[in-house]
Order: sequence, then C-alpha cells, then structure tokens
Amino acid sequence: MPDSNGAVRVGVYVCHCGSNIAGIVDCKAVAEYAAGLAHVVVSRDYKYMCSEPGQELIRTDIQEHQLNRIVVASCSPHLHEHTFRVATANGGLNPYFMAMVNIREQDSWVHTDKAAATHKAKDLVSASVRRVVLQRPLDKARVSIDPNVLVVGGGIAGIHAALTLANAGKHVYLVEREATIGGHMAMFDKTFPTLDCAACILTPKMSSVKAHPNITLWTYSDVENVAGYVGNYKVRVRRRTRYIHEDLCVGCQECVEACVFKVPKVNDEFNQGLGKRRPIYLPFPQAIPQTPVIDRETCIEFKTGKCKKTCVEACADRHAIDFKLEDKLEEIQVGTIILATGFQTFDAKRIPYYGYGHYPNVYTALEIERLVNASGPTSGEVVLRDGKTVPKSIGIIHCVGSRDENTNRWCSRVCCMYSLKLAHLLKEHTGAEIFNFYIDVRTPGKGFEEFYQRLLVEGVHFIRGKVAEVTDWVFDPSEEGMLTLRVEDTLLGVVRRIPVDMVVLSTGLEGRHDAQEVRRLFNITCASEGFFQERHPKLAPVSTFTDGIFLAGCCQGPKDIPDTVAQAGAAAAEALALICAGYVEQEPNAAYVIAEDCSGCKTCIPLCPYSAITFTVDKRAEVNPVLCKGCGTCVAACPSGSLQQRMFEDDELFAEIEGVLVHA
Ligand SMILES: Cc1cc2nc3c(=O)[nH]c(=O)nc-3n(C[C@H](O)[C@H](O)[C@H](O)COP(=O)(O)OP(=O)(O)OC[C@H]3O[C@@H](n4cnc5c(N)ncnc54)[C@H](O)[C@@H]3O)c2cc1C
Repeated sequence: MPDSNGAVRVGVYVCHCGSNIAGIVDCKAVAEYAAGLAHVVVSRDYKYMCSEPGQELIRTDIQEHQLNRIVVASCSPHLHEHTFRVATANGGLNPYFMAMVNIREQDSWVHTDKAAATHKAKDLVSASVRRVVLQRPLDKARVSIDPNVLVVGGGIAGIHAALTLANAGKHVYLVEREATIGGHMAMFDKTFPTLDCAACILTPKMSSVKAHPNITLWTYSDVENVAGYVGNYKVRVRRRTRYIHEDLCVGCQECVEACVFKVPKVNDEFNQGLGKRRPIYLPFPQAIPQTPVIDRETCIEFKTGKCKKTCVEACADRHAIDFKLEDKLEEIQVGTIILATGFQTFDAKRIPYYGYGHYPNVYTALEIERLVNASGPTSGEVVLRDGKTVPKSIGIIHCVGSRDENTNRWCSRVCCMYSLKLAHLLKEHTGAEIFNFYIDVRTPGKGFEEFYQRLLVEGVHFIRGKVAEVTDWVFDPSEEGMLTLRVEDTLLGVVRRIPVDMVVLSTGLEGRHDAQEVRRLFNITCASEGFFQERHPKLAPVSTFTDGIFLAGCCQGPKDIPDTVAQAGAAAAEALALICAGYVEQEPNAAYVIAEDCSGCKTCIPLCPYSAITFTVDKRAEVNPVLCKGCGTCVAACPSGSLQQRMFEDDELFAEIEGVLVHA
C-alpha cells in the first residue's frame, strides 16, 4: 500500500535482543546502513523490539511517518512473526506488509567474528527491504468447524477422549475395529502401581460410552475413506457385519451357549490363544456392546451350509441372527478427528534364543495378564501349559524388544512397571520364587519407586544383566523339565545359570503393523518407529501436521494408562478449542495455479504431501487453499512455472536475492 503519492515508505527496526544479537552484531551500524537504502524512511535500533515499548515504536512510526512497509531484524519468525504482524496491523497496515529478518539464530548465534556478522546482518536487511516493497496485502481465510468429532480407536485413550467431548455436549462418533471397546486395558487383571482392578475402573467407562446420548458407537468397524480438511472432514466408515442385528439383540448370549460347537475349539484371540471360543462369541463377559459376533472363517453354516443353526433357534423370539446380513457403509461429516489407535506388543518370536513358540513354558507378558485374570482362560489359576503344574520358579526377562539396537531402540516405558506388577501377582497366585532380569529398572512415575521397594521386601529377586539365552538343557537331574536362563550378572561379575519352570518375556510396545495405512488414510506423518508423529514434541504433543487431527494414547508413543488418559483429555481439549472458536484462520501462504500457463502435466499432484492438488475437468491443476500448507514443493517442481505461492512470489524472491548480492 504506497502512500497517497504512490510512494513506498519502509520502516526498519533492528533489535538488540539484550546481548543476544548486540553482543556480536553492531546493531547501530546496521540501522544506519538501512537508513540509506531506497524507500527506507525510518530506521532504528532498539534493545527489545518484542517488548511493549518496542511494538509501540512501530505503531507510532507507521502513523507519524506514513510508513507502509515494516522490516524487523531480530529473532526467528517462529517466535515473533505474529507479534510484529499484530503491531503492524495495530498501526493500521495490512499485517502482511511486514517482513522479519533473522539476525539472531542465523547470524549472531552462529558467528563469532563481529565485523563479518554485522556485514551479514546488513546483507539480510538489504534483501528484506527489497522484498517487502513488493509484498502484497493478504487476508487470512476463515474455515468454519463442524462440531461433530470422530474418535478412532476405543481403547482407554479413545474412550476417555470420547466421554470428555460428549460430556461437553459435542456429538462423537467412536469407531473401533474390534468387536468390543476396551483395548489392551480390558485384558489386564490389575494395574500398576496401585493394583486397582482394571475391569472395575474400565468397565463403568465402557458402559458410559454405550449409554451416552452424544456418542454413536460403531464397533467391528473401519474407517475406509477420509476427505476434506479441518472443520469439514467427510468420512466413510465400513461397519462389518456380525450377522446379528445389533438393534434386535439383547445380549442374552443364549445363541453362544446354543452353538453346535458344544466344546469351544477356536483359538481365543482375546485370551492370547490360551483358551478356546466358539465361532459365535463375545470377546469377554463385560464386552461393550454385548452383541456377539459370528466368525465366518470357523462357523459351520458359512463353511458347509449344513449347520443345524441351533443359534438361530435359540434366538427365535427376537430373530436377531441373520446369515445374509451384509456390511453397512456410513458417511459422516466431522470437524475434528482424534486418533487413538494404540499399539501392538513386540513379536517375541523375533528373538529366537528366548525360545518363545519353541518351549511351551515361555510366555509373553500379555499371556500372563490373561492367566492371572479371574475372568481369563484358567479363571486366574496360574498353571503351566500342561494345564496342571503350578510353577515353583519363574524368570521375568525385561526389555524384550526394547532398548536393543537389533530390534527396537526405544524404552517402552511401561515394561519395568508391568514386570514388577506381574512379579507381584505371580507370587501372590503361586508362591513361586521370582527372578527379574533387567538392564536398568526405570520407575519414574508417581508411586512407582515405592512399588519397586515393596517388591524387594516381598522377596522378589532382581538380577542385573541381559539374558543371553533360554534353553532346556539339563545339567543336573533336578533341572529335568525346566528352562535355564543364562545371564551375565553384571553386579556380581559372574555368568549365572538359573533354572526355572516358567519364563515371562516383557515384550516392548511398538507402533501398530497397519500404522502406515492409517497414516496415509488420515494424511498424517509417522515417525520411523511406527508411532504417529506429533506436531511438536514439547509445544504441540497431541497435534499433528494436519490441522484438526489430534493424537491420544500409545499411537503417539509408549505410555502408561495415567499418561494415556491425560493425553486423551488434552486431545479432547484441543478439539473443543477449535469447535468453540467456530472457525480456524488459514495462513494466506497457499500455492495457486495460473490456469492459462498450466500444461496439465500433473507433475505436482503426486508430490503434494497434503493431497491439496486436484486435476480439473479442463485438464489443469487446482490447489485447494484450505488443504495447502504452503510447503512450496509443487511450486519448485512445476516445469511451466504456472504454480506460484502467496507470500513467496517469484518477483519477491528475486528481489531478495538481488538485495543480498547488491550489498556484497
Ligand atoms: C503387558 C502390558 C501390561 C500393562 N500394564 C499396565 C498397567 O498395569 N498400568 C498402566 O498404567 N499401563 C499398563 N500398560 C500400558 C497400557 O496398556 C497402555 O497405556 C494403554 O493400553 C494405552 O491405551 P490406548 O487406548 O492408547 O491403546 P490400546 O489399548 O492399544 O487401544 C487402542 C484401540 O484402538 C483400536 N484400533 C486400532 N487400530 C484401529 C483402527 N484403524 N480403527 C479403529 N480402531 C482401531 C484397537 O482395537 C484398540 O481397541 C501395560 C501394557 C502392556 C503391554
């Protein structure tokens, strides 16, 4: 916006940032140099430009000197671009008539030669003055936010996020892949460090989800397609059929009892294969919803078409069972999405020298969770796989698939504590002698160290060392039928052989096997370990790089239940903040297509990480400015130069380059 005479009038402000900049850069000299540049009307240096008096300088100069462009040479725009845009707007200018020059991170902090650093600051200011002269007035677009929320994953994270939002009066669609909500927590008997009964604290929340008028619960369902952008996501959900009408079923379970499979024969996934189920089954007694599922793979009716269909007879009153039912597709519109898809445990077979899958009495921690559970396959009785022997000695190996560069390098955060919990429960159930083999015991949570001390008092043994192997080699007749752990005890400095009846592998937490598919579906990023990437590890730990999509629980990284619940609350609060605002403002830095120059080569379309570019009927590229994040990838790749980007127009960038060269 030139003044009434059409002249561009620039104000330049060089910040000392205390001694952060002024300790290396001669700020006065830079301001004096800037004063001599074309179009510069005012040039000042000041101790803290971000302070209230610093911003006031800009506001008053705009009015007193009819400035219409502002250059602030200070820190990174990440920190104070917003501050100076607001100061510029408060002076009466379009906020995009302001440019920042980073003479701190990119100059004073990385140089020691004062003269060279001052010279560089002058170069950068010269460049920015040339650029700001060409900057266009821009406005932020507003996108309205649909108040409905989609939560994907019904573990404790998804349940807590859904209830928080629903209690705040927002409608939530909770989509869970399995036949019941509850996630991993539903498998546990007790939870560390307080040893609360997991079911007692989880199942009331599960029931609240089912009963809540603001929650639409779709279990046994998958999100198939996600289109749109923050505030306006269109989602397609496939509700896989259970072959039972959910609205007719009352959860009496008589169909399950009536199944022609009198003795359950199918491996029970919920019980980690330690028990059997029928082809028509409910995963566990407190499952939500209480509607059973018919498993096509094992149901005789589906396999042969010749079943007596005793389940149908048992449900004759309600006619809830229908073998002809098909999957249902639901289309919903939501403004925000919370991903709470959780984790998977490390596959213990990947470390063959611990013998999982080879020696029957080597178990994973999840299997032990089911064994010690009163509603588990043995009703809480801990016996070996022969079904009768109570183990007299048990070895628990920590860090299986964690803190190991051959498998996963990260610490899974919960294994030390759940190993202590299982040691306590196994001792309680069997009276066995328990040995924990650890690298370090990590107990940094509230009440965790106290729980560790309790275990020491209970007489659980702790041996510091990584177990080298588990074998069934017998060196002494007393070891017959036992498993031997060979370990270097790094506290005693000796190699020990410890025979035990049962070995428990404390397997680590990993990103789910389908994390890449889910990542693509929701257009978010995944870190190398397979956990979803948060926008910023400290300042935006539940946000993603896709606006309106948030993370909760172990899909973002390993964590225990209290941290999961806290994060789920935070994700719900972030979604609520958007919903309550009613709209989001978009930075006006989107790419755009000069249609007449576009050759329709489609180079840009697969390159766009945000799927913001489509191909129009008249065979040209078109950018959706709401989806575009202004990364510039398409602009750089466009062979015809028909893609341009607001705030980074070619003439602005060339002028900036010239500005550096002219001074050099
Ligand atoms: C052996 C063991 C013992 C533990 N003991 C304790 C303990 O005592 N105390 C404690 O604080 N922590 C404990 N933990 C940690 C605890 O399990 C986690 O903190 C908690 O389960 C994380 O919850 P979540 O909802 O993030 O994930 P999950 O429990 O994994 O739930 C994720 C849910 O999302 C669903 N899902 C996945 N993908 C999709 C998809 N694409 N679409 C729809 N749904 C999907 C899953 O089916 C699942 O229901 C233990 C962990 C292990 C392995």
